[in-house]
Amino acid sequence: MMYRPSELQRFLQELGTHAKKGLSQNFLIDGNIIRKIGATASVSSDDVVLEIGPGPGALTQELLANGAVVIAVEMDTILANALERLQTPDQRLHIITSDILDVSIEEALKPYLKEGKRAKVIANLPYHVTTPILTRLAPRHDLLESITVMVQKEVAERMTSPPGSKVYGSLTVFLHFYTDPEYAFTVSRNCFSPVPKVDSAAVHLKVRHPRHVSNVDAFFRMTRTAFEHRRKMLRASLKDLYRAETVTAALESLHLNVQARPEDLPLDALIALFEVIADAEQTR
Ligand code: SAM
Repeated sequence: MMYRPSELQRFLQELGTHAKKGLSQNFLIDGNIIRKIGATASVSSDDVVLEIGPGPGALTQELLANGAVVIAVEMDTILANALERLQTPDQRLHIITSDILDVSIEEALKPYLKEGKRAKVIANLPYHVTTPILTRLAPRHDLLESITVMVQKEVAERMTSPPGSKVYGSLTVFLHFYTDPEYAFTVSRNCFSPVPKVDSAAVHLKVRHPRHVSNVDAFFRMTRTAFEHRRKMLRASLKDLYRAETVTAALESLHLNVQARPEDLPLDALIALFEVIADAEQTR
């Protein structure tokens, strides 16, 4: 594989292409990191893996070497076509040339998933679409067992931060609702070519049964609204959705600080708050 920038450069040149900024093409050139991602997801020959943005295929090759069936979704046609060279004798590589956001993951995975088995998502994500991709994948407990992704380090911190932290926000709450997220390891920007402006980190999300709430959309509308005004107290930030007295009464009934800001509340408290408010608003 291409573990030197010059080799990667030559590979791209031979294909008549170059790394495209608009597609977040910063390619991994560190074999250790590639092996660590495979190990974090504990990929074996039992697994069906959905790889998003395989690019030149360094990670794809590792996943295939571990024996997995790999469904690789790449929207750069030139790189997607070039992946054919990694095909295994037993045809375990399936290439889909498309924007991942246009792919039905159900249709992409179902033909390869055995009864009762779920897939693993593994990706060095295109950074400009990290949030829409995670938002679509995290709720798919029916199809996915885990999501192991490389993201910008600051996004990794946001995804995995505890309540009270400055970076705890609506993405954190959303991911904790559907998964158990874990910060796996930090990756220096020098492990990529071209070298990006920031460091990265791998995050492992174990997808589990989502928490129960009476109205999921309304719950996330509440958390998004609250975190849009994170400096404000909840009774003020939620005023466009609910009456201030309702919010205050709900906080009091749950023995929470009436001056609480959204970042003070763990997922359980936000869910409890939502249910009390929703009840009160319905019976008002
Ligand atoms: N996996 C490779 C690696 O680790 O070297 C490449 C990672 S690179 C950060 C992101 C890859 O995602 C690029 O190959 C890019 O073409 C692809 N990509 C960007 N946007 C995409 C999208 N919406 N759907 C599918 N692939 C996309």
